[in-house]
Amino acid sequence: MASEFFDLFRQPEWLECERRVIAATGGTCANCGNTAPLRVHHSYYEKDRMPWDYPIASLHALCEACKREAEEHRVELRRQIGLVSYIHSERLLGYAQALEAFDHPETTIHVRSYEHAEGIGDTCGVTAETILRRMVNETVTSALLEEIFEEQRPRRVSELRGGA
Ligand SMILES: [Zn+2]
Repeated sequence: MASEFFDLFRQPEWLECERRVIAATGGTCANCGNTAPLRVHHSYYEKDRMPWDYPIASLHALCEACKREAEEHRVELRRQIGLVSYIHSERLLGYAQALEAFDHPETTIHVRSYEHAEGIGDTCGVTAETILRRMVNETVTSALLEEIFEEQRPRRVSELRGGA
């Protein structure tokens, strides 16, 4: 079973996928910029899915040290997510989707609940009410999140300086 899994990483589809991911970073580690031999890290796995059949955003060209760290981090993150109650998992989902939207400009998030809106708002330092008031057709786009984030900049700077 395990050897069948590892055999997948010798398939031409995987080798081509790996080549594309590494070429996209110009042959340097996406985390530290190291030019040491790179490997492709999956930020998640799904049962019965081929290793090359993942969104490109979930595949990262990393050096050996960064890949090891990323794998440890993924295990820790998954464990922590498993300890979160259902109601907080809605908030966490909103937070994670909003972070993805900041990384990928064409993202649209369908707002599912108040708690989900809280998580989305957390990335910009605003309340769920702000998200619910500003969303359009119950969705929030990357562009809207960027706009809200920029509006909060003066407030964040004054807080850093200890002002009101
Ligand atoms: Zn690295």
